[in-house]
Amino acid sequence: IKTIAVLTSGGDAPGMNAAIRAVVLAGHHYNLNVLGYQHGYIGLMEQEYQPLTPGDVYNIIQRGGTLLKSARCEPFKTEAGAQQAADNLQQAGVDALIVIGGDGSFRGAEHLSHFWDGQVIGLPGTIDNDVFGTDATIGYYTAIDTALENIDRVRDTADAFERIFLIEVMGRHAGFIGLSAAVGSGAEQVLLPELCEQEQIDIDALTRHIQKAQKIRGKCSYIVIVSENLWPGGANALAEDLNRRTGIECRPVILGHVQRGGSPVSLDRMLASKLGAYAVEAALAGKSGIMLGEQNAKVCEVPLAQTWSQRKPLDPYLVRIQTEMFDLLSTEA
Ligand code: ATP
Repeated sequence: IKTIAVLTSGGDAPGMNAAIRAVVLAGHHYNLNVLGYQHGYIGLMEQEYQPLTPGDVYNIIQRGGTLLKSARCEPFKTEAGAQQAADNLQQAGVDALIVIGGDGSFRGAEHLSHFWDGQVIGLPGTIDNDVFGTDATIGYYTAIDTALENIDRVRDTADAFERIFLIEVMGRHAGFIGLSAAVGSGAEQVLLPELCEQEQIDIDALTRHIQKAQKIRGKCSYIVIVSENLWPGGANALAEDLNRRTGIECRPVILGHVQRGGSPVSLDRMLASKLGAYAVEAALAGKSGIMLGEQNAKVCEVPLAQTWSQRKPLDPYLVRIQTEMFDLLSTEA
């Protein structure tokens, strides 16, 4: 092969730049032309690309966001959209396309492969960590650290005023950020999609827990981490409901998009660099239709369709320590 292309798609994640850099440097190491498509699948449909040289990726490893910009693109989901993208790739002489994104972006890559003969390789780039087949996704570790930094600040004020705070974290429909943030911050409670029956919060149980905590500990700070998309109206509505039920003031904090930005932490930089370089070698080896992930510190190849057809489970041990062992009421009752 002579030419590879790379794009970033879906929600941006810290470490995407490190992955682009690795693809470009490894590509040039093997004397390949490397093209960068802008704005995800929009760039493919509109033939919006530029050659990427090592000079273009100088000084980006530490930057959040993505040099190539990211986007969501509905028209690409149609046959005509993918055909247009395929024609453009053909015209640009691309042999292999590396897609950095989440499971939606991998569905897109699979869809494209029905219209284009070139190789497609996915790299997991999303803060949500909701991609099956890899222990972690690029951006996930940074998002946890950002959430923790902010939750620690809220804890200081919660403690000073002996208040209850509901802190909403991202994750789309998965609780990876929520669980890690709860364990890492020492939160009193955590509400995650995976732990709620039919995605329903047991608000009575939460109310009882808060009341019991106040009885045993006296007035104290109490932090609940809640995943986004779990409750109609999110943390705001839940806080209002808890106010009514407990008669205690509950304050909502929605962390929001701060979780997506920032300089990638070391683990994300390492993962992105490793997978980016590996993607180029996999392309040279003729691989296609796969995502590259990492399992037990080893790079692994996962068929694209597996990445979205199976739900990645939370670490059951982390769930157990957070909900059972570290429950303040089980130790102080
Ligand atoms: P994140 O979850 O971090 O936001 P993602 O990659 O899952 O990342 P999506 O918005 O779900 O983000 O998908 C990104 C893009 O991939 C979509 O805008 C669309 O262009 C393409 N895509 C998603 N699903 C499909 C599909 N079923 N068929 C074709 N293309 C798709």
